[in-house]
Amino acid sequence: MDNLCPVCGYDLKEPVMDSLICVCCGTQYGYHDSTASHAELRERWMSGGAKWHSRRILPPPDWSLVNQLRSIGCEVILVNREQLEVVV
Ligand SMILES: [Zn+2]
Repeated sequence: MDNLCPVCGYDLKEPVMDSLICVCCGTQYGYHDSTASHAELRERWMSGGAKWHSRRILPPPDWSLVNQLRSIGCEVILVNREQLEVVV
């Protein structure tokens, strides 16, 4: 539970610490989140299409953005197949 990215909810499998970069949303902790809140970063990431960040590490085959966001307490509304609305 403690290893979830506070921005996108991805399970980092290691504790969130400074200079670590989330493979999913690309947030660099201690850098990006020093000037913006996690909610703001999430909003930015989502408005950019919520794209998987890492080119080296691919998303797990069962990757679910919806479940991931729900795991950090976001209320996710499916507008349609392509569009999500997140209420924090
Ligand atoms: Zn993330």
